[in-house]
Amino acid sequence: MSDKRYEVKSSCPQCGCSYLTVLSEEEIRAKYGDDERFQLECGECLAAFEKERSEACPEWDKECRLR
Ligand SMILES: [Zn+2]
Repeated sequence: MSDKRYEVKSSCPQCGCSYLTVLSEEEIRAKYGDDERFQLECGECLAAFEKERSEACPEWDKECRLR
């Protein structure tokens, strides 16, 4: 288990505010697993939206492709 951190970034399609969360490998695995689309929720307007894994978190995308 590494202590690497993954940044999940997006912007809300509804209000346009930016979304950023930093997760450990364990957390990102538990939350998103191998899904190619992330289900995100805006912290401002609470809109639920989807984002491609490769765009939201390129680093995690790379890890998933290697496995
Ligand atoms: Zn929003």
